[in-house]
Amino acid sequence: MWHSPYKLYLYPETIKQSTDENEKAIGDFSSISKTLKELDFIGTKQGERRYTTGKNFVSLLTFMGCSPNIELEPQENKPYCYIEIIIEKEAKFFSGINIKAATCPECKAKITDIANPAVENSVCTNCKKTFKTNRLNWRKTAFIAQYCIVIGNIYESEAIPNDQLLDALKATSLTEWRYAYIREDGN
Ligand SMILES: [Zn+2]
Repeated sequence: MWHSPYKLYLYPETIKQSTDENEKAIGDFSSISKTLKELDFIGTKQGERRYTTGKNFVSLLTFMGCSPNIELEPQENKPYCYIEIIIEKEAKFFSGINIKAATCPECKAKITDIANPAVENSVCTNCKKTFKTNRLNWRKTAFIAQYCIVIGNIYESEAIPNDQLLDALKATSLTEWRYAYIREDGN
């Protein structure tokens, strides 16, 4: 079983939004998968956009703790690490049950959801002032993106992407990449 509620996400800092950009984002799938393949971060294809871990998977992440409990080989009965590239039609808000609320830049009200992630500016439900949606700080537990890379079965702060991986993605997509840990409801 490949599914695990614990995931590490890599996502581009720049959010693509318009219809024209949608096509570019789809184009990005082939360039991103090519980059990940060249790095040997991904292995063999398992689904339309899902891959097993490649030979350099472990060396392109920095694992915290002395003996990470990760399963790299596909298993029938327990979760294992895999990589999936996600492309959405428009920018989407990604979050899970571990979300840490962001705060409104004006009134500091807690924000735990974004009504319309595809729109650049959001209105605070508390003070009614406008703020740039992607400026909010979710402390690595949520983000807005149109496309991203999921690394399945990585626990919160268990591993961080290293500079070689982030730099290669930046060179491919011409934007900085960030990361977040999202835990889904497992039931
Ligand atoms: Zn506010």
